[in-house]
Amino acid sequence: MHYSVSPVGFVRSCFKEKFAIPRQPQLAPAARGVLELVPPFDTGDAVAGLEQSSHVWLLFLFHQALEDKPRLKVRPPRLGGNTSMGVFATRATHRPNGIGQSVVRLEKVEPGRLLLSGIDLLDGTPVLDIKPYVPYADSVAEASNTMASAPPTAIDVEWSESALPQAHSHAQRLGEPLVELIEQCLAQDPRPAYQVPPAERVYGVKFWDVQVRWHYPQPERIRVLEVVAD
Ligand code: SAM
Repeated sequence: MHYSVSPVGFVRSCFKEKFAIPRQPQLAPAARGVLELVPPFDTGDAVAGLEQSSHVWLLFLFHQALEDKPRLKVRPPRLGGNTSMGVFATRATHRPNGIGQSVVRLEKVEPGRLLLSGIDLLDGTPVLDIKPYVPYADSVAEASNTMASAPPTAIDVEWSESALPQAHSHAQRLGEPLVELIEQCLAQDPRPAYQVPPAERVYGVKFWDVQVRWHYPQPERIRVLEVVAD
């Protein structure tokens, strides 16, 4: 049996590649984006009253992780990438139907656009549904999950002499909290858990329209080397 769904909008996100996107929303409050709604949802009618909600659920497609054959088991990077678990026991991106769900902060509602923050969504992500967050129903005080019981342990992020002024000037040009975005995302140590990076290895990722490059002077410390226009 097949059903068809179509996106109600697409996310324009600070994250231009999958690498270094936080594992879950809320982990990087400075991660911002705009959900551009498509007709007929772009007139304002469909979102009338949504501004009463501080957060929204987004149901979306992992459009850059879609697969024909569903996987039954996956290896979550959080477990070092070598422990396999049932796909439904994880929040992995490679999953049947490729559906993701994130609760994100709703910064502003405009006709045809939702301004969002605290997102974990790749640029261009198709959104299938938007729902207001309902705290009494959606947050379960006594809930537990022994595999993902706490956010990733933060590591120190320092700046080389030139990188911080570079980041500040791009932040000003963009009108975005780029310094905080870089610090919040890199503090979660984006490298795969099983990689022990040699100090000379330089990592890079594109946030907004800039390339951010860093290395690990020590295994548990990141130094941002440069923030340059892509
Ligand atoms: N909060 C969602 C959930 O639980 O369904 C997403 C969790 S998933 C572990 C988060 C990761 O999905 C991000 O780190 C990013 O690498 C990846 N991702 C985000 N948007 C994506 C997209 N459109 N296609 C493929 N992968 C995506």
